[in-house]
Amino acid sequence: MSAEATRTLDFEVIIVGGRPAGASLAARLGARGVRVLVIDKADLRSQPAVPSCPVIYPAAMRLLDEIGLDEAAYAAVSERCAVLEINFHPHFKATIEVPSMFGRDYVYGLDRALFDHVLWTHLERFPSVTTRRGFAFVDLVRDAGGEVIGIEGQEGDGPKETIRARCVVGADGRFSLVARRAGAKVIADHPEHASTVYFSDWVGVDASTATGRPTQIYATGRGTNVMFFPLRDGRICVATHMRADRVDVGGDAEAFYDGVLQRYPWVQERLGGGHRVGPFLGMKRIANRYMEAGGPGWILIGDALHHKDPVDGQGIYDALIEAKILDEEVAPFVAGERSFAPTLDAYRRRVDAATRPMFKATLDRLKRELYEEPPTLVIKTLIRWMLTDPEYQSRFVRFLGRDLAPETWLTPALMRACAARGVVRDVRRLWA
Ligand SMILES: Cc1cc2nc3c(=O)[nH]c(=O)nc-3n(C[C@H](O)[C@H](O)[C@H](O)COP(=O)(O)OP(=O)(O)OC[C@H]3O[C@@H](n4cnc5c(N)ncnc54)[C@H](O)[C@@H]3O)c2cc1C
Repeated sequence: MSAEATRTLDFEVIIVGGRPAGASLAARLGARGVRVLVIDKADLRSQPAVPSCPVIYPAAMRLLDEIGLDEAAYAAVSERCAVLEINFHPHFKATIEVPSMFGRDYVYGLDRALFDHVLWTHLERFPSVTTRRGFAFVDLVRDAGGEVIGIEGQEGDGPKETIRARCVVGADGRFSLVARRAGAKVIADHPEHASTVYFSDWVGVDASTATGRPTQIYATGRGTNVMFFPLRDGRICVATHMRADRVDVGGDAEAFYDGVLQRYPWVQERLGGGHRVGPFLGMKRIANRYMEAGGPGWILIGDALHHKDPVDGQGIYDALIEAKILDEEVAPFVAGERSFAPTLDAYRRRVDAATRPMFKATLDRLKRELYEEPPTLVIKTLIRWMLTDPEYQSRFVRFLGRDLAPETWLTPALMRACAARGVVRDVRRLWA
């Protein structure tokens, strides 16, 4: 781009979407002094339009440290949780302590609306970052050669505005309009195993145990899990996670959700005298998909680039790590040291390496946990031996926390060792 053309630009980078992917990218570019515009059609005191349950692990917190976000800022709107309980009622319950990862031995249950707002207001620290909320992306602006050179956007019913930049980043979530306007192709899609999730916040639920307020997963081994995520102020997010082909809501998803909760006495017992306070949210047939990463003048990031089942709670980490990679790759392009094509190539390669193994692991886990219904005998033996084995427990949480590589955390040797130790424990118990 000529010096003359650069002078007529409004910004160097336009980011569409201001939640984990967009806001953290803006913060990183802002720390370099890059002139960034980040827009969001929402007011950013709201839940994401695509609903999200609330867990983040220490690897995500470390990335938030890197953008200078003080943990106290989001801790104030979150609940700290150091124990995970997996309950295969009536067969067994596994209590798993969160091991130390990246200096933290806890996860957070977030209020997404407040967390996203904390991220958004963090951008005020960066003088080169301009934010506009309530401003919707409408279309891409291209030059005669088809290269993206800006956006057309609109505030409410106001007039459409054209804003120019050297590149446009779509951080606008899993139904990305930037991706659609750019004509991004779906490059991987796995509809064969999909889940449907419904959830709502509750109060008055008896969620305390001897180990405090753990995250609790009630696993049936029959295509349905019910999860209890502690939030601040005594609230609990209660989510149903089911294989999608078993969900027929008959026109009333809310009644269906209530029915699922009533189906299991253990869940009913936990809900006790509690009642729902939050809105009823959810998503049917959650897609597992990668889009094309970008093209001339445009790039996708976060859920706009790839999204997957929430079973492993990885979406926010993925959004944050992709922002880190994109910042590192876009910086030399913005500085005029590299052209766009190699920038996009490097970003695509690094993001693939950083996210594909977890994508595959999540698909495997989704299939294993919701679709392969193990015989009760296997739940009572092999699955119990593994989930109650301290080494397995630690490795499992460190895998979720991105402290262990998704492709290596679970080995046949570990499974054999869990089985051997489990048999010994059972024999000792019988003997005693
Ligand atoms: C049921 C469910 C549960 C989940 N649970 C977890 C969990 O426990 N832990 C976890 O880490 N992840 C979880 N996720 C995933 C997580 O929510 C996402 O991965 C994460 O929000 C992605 O962040 P993002 O910034 O890419 O997109 P989003 O958070 O979707 O933000 C996109 C933003 O773009 C804006 N936007 C969209 N269109 C336009 C437009 N035309 N103009 C301007 N702005 C626009 C939207 O208003 C929105 O603010 C869950 C997802 C689902 C579906």
